[in-house]
Amino acid sequence: MTRTYKIAVIPGDGIGPEVINEGVKALTKLAETDSRFDFDFTYFPWGCEYYLEHGKMMAEDGIVQLKEFDAIYLGSVGYPGVPDHISLWDLLLKIRKSFDQYVNLRPITLLHENMCPLKNDKKDNIDMLVIRENSEGEYAGAGDWLYKGQKEEVVLQTGVFSRKGTERIIRYAYETAKSEGRSLTSVSKGNALNYSMVFWDQIFEEVGKEFPDVQTQSYLVDAASMFMVQQPERFEIVVTSNLFGDILTDLGAALAGGLGLAAGANINPERRYPSMFEPVHGSAPDIAGKGIANPLAAVWSASQMLDFLGYDDQGKRLLKAIERLLIDGGCLTPDMGGQASTADVGSRIVEYLSIV
Ligand code: ATP
Ligand code: MG
Repeated sequence: MTRTYKIAVIPGDGIGPEVINEGVKALTKLAETDSRFDFDFTYFPWGCEYYLEHGKMMAEDGIVQLKEFDAIYLGSVGYPGVPDHISLWDLLLKIRKSFDQYVNLRPITLLHENMCPLKNDKKDNIDMLVIRENSEGEYAGAGDWLYKGQKEEVVLQTGVFSRKGTERIIRYAYETAKSEGRSLTSVSKGNALNYSMVFWDQIFEEVGKEFPDVQTQSYLVDAASMFMVQQPERFEIVVTSNLFGDILTDLGAALAGGLGLAAGANINPERRYPSMFEPVHGSAPDIAGKGIANPLAAVWSASQMLDFLGYDDQGKRLLKAIERLLIDGGCLTPDMGGQASTADVGSRIVEYLSIV
């Protein structure tokens, strides 16, 4: 029996619609070749253009509408003329928060050595999954601005680490490491952040007692940044806080092919609400409308969606198609050193899906 998944597509701004189009092409092709599932895509015209017309980034009841879907597939939001804090908070963060997507999954896997700027022989060993806390921590938005504009001015930015929030992300990471049979690395900074990161380290140890078979290590974030470049083979599953995860995954993206290849998923593991799949990159206004954006990050995010829906064989197949495209090297967008268009790359992926 075929199960039909309702997917909410929010193409968004700038290159968002261009790259999402190619991801939808790949998902459609896979659904055609697999009798287990089908997709029913519903498009939502939300984003900055919508904001300029309606004064908000999404419909008033947007969250209620989205709640009915099995997953959300998002391009990118943000455009010059609309302040970042509006585009970010009024759509992206609103969805992440409303649907309690507290796990941010960012795979850092080098599919072809040409995509890596490193000159050493470590390239074969870049294959990690960063599990970033996505709901609190340094990005909780807590703080104060005292004596504004005066000589005594003091600004406070508070990291918020609840037991519930910290335990659940660390437990998710242990479970992932256990089920994949891989090691787990916690990245923190207990020597300098004497409340939040001491607490983090403590929880990492506590929860670890439930998973005696998982091999673990802990690094300070500064050391982890160095090792990621010099000895990336040290990392398999990585769990870290919101801020550290944000920074480390940009470093990771640079190692594995740049923003054009960096995929991300915002997961609600309990599946009470829809999870959201989106490339890490933004709307890239500088290249929007030219048809040259790299769609592979969006396609990779689609592969994460397949994994999450329970079809990881098809998720892997899609990744294989990306790998084939990189190895072949004849159909790459300019950011990867080629001359192909966004649509060329997307169509080539669909062609490869017939042979991988
Ligand atoms: P935002 O604030 O939305 O994150 P940004 O300009 O800070 O936007 P990105 O939009 O992620 O950051 O892009 C940074 C630069 O990387 C872009 O200007 C663009 O040149 C390049 N870039 C990002 N994504 C892609 C892509 N998919 N294909 C090609 N180039 C890209
Ligand atoms: Mg950016």
